[in-house]
Amino acid sequence: MTQNTMIDNFDIAVIGSGPAGLAAAINLKIRNKRFILLGYPQLSHQVEVSVLIDNLLGFPNIKGSDLNKAWKNHLEAMDIRIVDDRVRQVYTNVFDEKHVVACRNGDYIVRSVIIAAGIIRNNLIPGESELLGQGGVSYCATCDGMFYKGKKVVIFGTTEDAVHEAEYLCEVASEVVFIASAKVKGTVSASNCTQMRGKPVKILSENGKFTAVEMFDGTQIEGAALFIIKDAAGPSYLVPGIEAENDSIHVDADMRTNIRGIFAAGDCTGKPWQLMRAMGQGQIAALNSVRYLDEENYWSGL
Ligand SMILES: Cc1cc2nc3c(=O)[nH]c(=O)nc-3n(C[C@H](O)[C@H](O)[C@H](O)COP(=O)(O)OP(=O)(O)OC[C@H]3O[C@@H](n4cnc5c(N)ncnc54)[C@H](O)[C@@H]3O)c2cc1C
Repeated sequence: MTQNTMIDNFDIAVIGSGPAGLAAAINLKIRNKRFILLGYPQLSHQVEVSVLIDNLLGFPNIKGSDLNKAWKNHLEAMDIRIVDDRVRQVYTNVFDEKHVVACRNGDYIVRSVIIAAGIIRNNLIPGESELLGQGGVSYCATCDGMFYKGKKVVIFGTTEDAVHEAEYLCEVASEVVFIASAKVKGTVSASNCTQMRGKPVKILSENGKFTAVEMFDGTQIEGAALFIIKDAAGPSYLVPGIEAENDSIHVDADMRTNIRGIFAAGDCTGKPWQLMRAMGQGQIAALNSVRYLDEENYWSGL
């Protein structure tokens, strides 16, 4: 869990502000549940960049950006607020079948979670998946930074968030090398931080532990750990213990995952990656999440 305090208790957390998460949210609102919708006020980037959509029933030839606008109006009309925060990790069944949703700005205790976080489109750096976790590669500085107190660490950031994460690392590590991609505009002013532009091409290790990153020109930057800050993390990292194959979460027809109380919907459950499938699955996940809360024996069998 993060160093944050617990913010609040909710019945259900919906992770993701794309069509799957929004469809889940409006159905939870109709069912009068206490839920939190975690995502981005800009809604879905994938939808925003879709030039023309022609397979959404009732909306021939609609621009993705117009669809996002219509969804914002729908949320406003139903008084649904998006909490602008990024989920770092979900700790399942922490106590009394409750889960902790650890975010950048705080942790939430919930009884059920709907994962609607879409899919990752960025390519992994060679070595990233093998060293993730025990090997010294982490996606969350505020979660794992303390393990490297007083040591030199490397952070590679592809989102504006990375600046805050790098600032945090400067407080705990002796030295921080911050490699920022072109998307990162901010800078870190701490005296123990060296900031540079670029992208590591390879992650080097010895005996299964991170040792350095290799840059395009062959330069190697050493450290005790590598933090990679990007838009989305694969489901197995987001929810440890969840069953997934090639980053597609296994779900049944009720959108249940292998973990009690945890549902998934949309692109993160596999192909076809399509709007109407995402919306439909979001709705099914919401209704069954409500069933899970209301019916004592729901999860044990249909
Ligand atoms: C260029 C392009 C064109 C397309 N055209 C079509 C088309 O014509 N027809 C069609 O049916 N489909 C089309 N698609 C596919 C469609 O956009 C997707 O299937 C749909 O957006 C999936 O919805 P989703 O809710 O599952 O995921 P997304 O829309 O990806 O939404 C996921 C949301 O979760 C948020 N998120 C991720 N991780 C976290 C986290 N850790 N914490 C908080 N929030 C998080 C993301 O920021 C995002 O807001 C197109 C996609 C692209 C890229």
